[in-house]
Amino acid sequence: MMTIKTSNLGFPRLGRKREWKKAIEGYWSKKLDLDTLHQQLTDLHKENLLLQKNYNLSSIPVGDFSLYDHILDTSLLFNIIPERFQGRDIDDDLLFDIARGNKEHVASALIKWFNTNYHYIVPEWDHAEPKLNHNVLLERFNYAKSLNVNAHPVIVGPITFVKLSKGGDQSFEEKVNTLLPLYKEVLQSLKEAGAEYIQIDEPALVTDDSADYEAITQAAYEYFAEAGLENHIVIQTYFERVNLQFLNSLPVKGLGLDFVHDHNFNLEQIKAGDFDKNKTLYAGIIDGRNVWAADIEAKKELIDTLQNYTNDLVIQPSASLLHVPVSLDDETLEESIAEGLSFATEKLDELDALRRLFNDNDAEKYNQLKARYERFQNQSFKNLEYDFDSVRTSRQSAFKTRKQAQDKRLNLPDLPTTTIGSFPQSQEVRKYRADWKNDRISDENYQSFLNNEIARWIKIQEDIGLDVLVHGEFERNDMVEFFGEKLQGFLVTKFGWVQSYGSRAVKPPIIYGDVKWAEPLTVKETLYAQSLTDKPVKGMLTGPVTILNWSFERVDLPREEVQDQIALAINEEVLALENEGIQIIQVDEPALREGLPLRSEYHEDYLNKSVHSFKLATSSVADETQIHTHMCYSQFGQIIHAIYDLDADVISIETSRSHGDLIKDFEDITYDLGIGLGVYDIHSPRIPTESEVTEAIHRALQEIDRSLFWVNPDCGLKTRKEDEVVEALSVLVNAVDKLRKSTNTATV
Ligand code: GLN
Ligand code: ZN
Repeated sequence: MMTIKTSNLGFPRLGRKREWKKAIEGYWSKKLDLDTLHQQLTDLHKENLLLQKNYNLSSIPVGDFSLYDHILDTSLLFNIIPERFQGRDIDDDLLFDIARGNKEHVASALIKWFNTNYHYIVPEWDHAEPKLNHNVLLERFNYAKSLNVNAHPVIVGPITFVKLSKGGDQSFEEKVNTLLPLYKEVLQSLKEAGAEYIQIDEPALVTDDSADYEAITQAAYEYFAEAGLENHIVIQTYFERVNLQFLNSLPVKGLGLDFVHDHNFNLEQIKAGDFDKNKTLYAGIIDGRNVWAADIEAKKELIDTLQNYTNDLVIQPSASLLHVPVSLDDETLEESIAEGLSFATEKLDELDALRRLFNDNDAEKYNQLKARYERFQNQSFKNLEYDFDSVRTSRQSAFKTRKQAQDKRLNLPDLPTTTIGSFPQSQEVRKYRADWKNDRISDENYQSFLNNEIARWIKIQEDIGLDVLVHGEFERNDMVEFFGEKLQGFLVTKFGWVQSYGSRAVKPPIIYGDVKWAEPLTVKETLYAQSLTDKPVKGMLTGPVTILNWSFERVDLPREEVQDQIALAINEEVLALENEGIQIIQVDEPALREGLPLRSEYHEDYLNKSVHSFKLATSSVADETQIHTHMCYSQFGQIIHAIYDLDADVISIETSRSHGDLIKDFEDITYDLGIGLGVYDIHSPRIPTESEVTEAIHRALQEIDRSLFWVNPDCGLKTRKEDEVVEALSVLVNAVDKLRKSTNTATV
């Protein structure tokens, strides 16, 4: 029997109580000086390393810890500095300025890391002069050594790094070739410092177009092999399957494969004999992206199988644990639910249980985890009955008929104006919410504060002259967490934070059981707002696709079933609002685009199921009730048909950043449903000028029928200041007023 090793790909940097965030934000706001920042971060790094050491891993990653983002670290290491920031010392202040922008220069772009909710800083090649800067990775490796931690350095590989970067005149191959000698030097320094192997992350090799990079990938890794690094490199992939035959041909020590999110193809390829037994197999068998306790028995069986195909097996999470919270230890959860969960440290414990079982014939921990898993699966909160078929999945009438009924009822002017839902979450709003949550103020006190805020903003909207009003979403901390707190089957943790970008963390709710609507979620605030005005107030809900995408989802049921359970709950709320006389209901789906699977072969299925759930949530209303939806973050081209299939009476979308590209997407099909294009960018404090707004409307009206067109900002206004919002919306309304008065619409 061979010995099994255990390892890890990366650990959350945030710390158990978000110490990381507090430290770097403390430095930004000048509460901490640089030395104190370094001291605090070193302490946290140490804590992370020692915490992992408790689980008897054969090797612990370094290079995952970072001051902001590990891709940005790599850019600095290789001197890929955005042109506007060049000429400065390579130090932490430069790093933060590139990440966040400063007075003179805009920040580098943030883009989602594959299909996760982590965002990396996009490397910029324009006039970059690649060379090796201070070798932070070596420093971190030596630091781990000084703590007696057996560590392996982690670095993003040249193929993935170049693929994720932008700018520069060089070809893809030229960029890789420029970097290779620099990589070589870093790898050699690590080898000399005693690194047994270096984990080179190449998730680019799991994407649809990975075949395009095979030649250059081969050249790169042969180059490293020629430099004597063959036995010190592990190519690590995750999030999807690879072309194993190809990867197997590369001269490296081992390959890291994902056996959780690979749709079973990695295993199939292994079984087909595509893996060279003499290579080390780094098998990602524990889900690194979700919070569920592993089905430990199934994992044992997987190990049994994998052992037949390699002489050297290392088991590990399927991806960096960056995507999950640190530990359950700090939560106070009911045991029946806690049993089903597994955060970063608990995942390492699962690996340890398997290691003990296989290597030491010690089944104690394994049996415990197995019993816990089985108990959790049999919980009653996981076995409710649903009657999906009793709920409509398409509206009673076609859009044209609905529109007539709605126009008659709502009687809105030409080019109706509205907003996307939220108004500024001022310090005061946040303070009241926190005080109420921590029982520092009474329910009545809180409710009367909310009502005042709603009343104030109804008046502001009326004074500005908007046509369709909103209550402002002051009671919501986050558009998903709010619903997670109120729906059955969801759990909101205390410290379950994961990094989204920079110091920004999110706390996704956990869907642990069957989802059920138990009582109205939004009716009180919406009705109160409506009672104050003769203008229609839009009900404001988050859609099933977005709620699922921004939660930790169940994996013991098919995804679509969980999504449809949420859809039924939202449908109840839609009907509750309609029943109380609310005439317009918006169901936001900003996450629809980003949930698109990595591989295009799964797109259609994903989109069909998304459309189905959205329609399940929204089709039961009467013709005269107007359903809106909202999406942001653009790039709609690929999904435009699905957007049309949602059959929402009105969609509002973010446009101003894509400068008309988006309008083109809508031009490519005949989009003959209501549509509101964002006419100004809400991410910036800048107030748009009237002519900018007029211009944006004119441009849109060249493609879109005026009778279908709405005017609105790009997205919700919760991050803006009150005076900015009032000013910008006034500009918007004034621009529309003038357009309405210009009788000669033919010139539009
Ligand atoms: N209704 C939400 C808001 O206005 C929509 C947010 C979003 O699209 N991300 O805040
Ligand atoms: Zn939005």
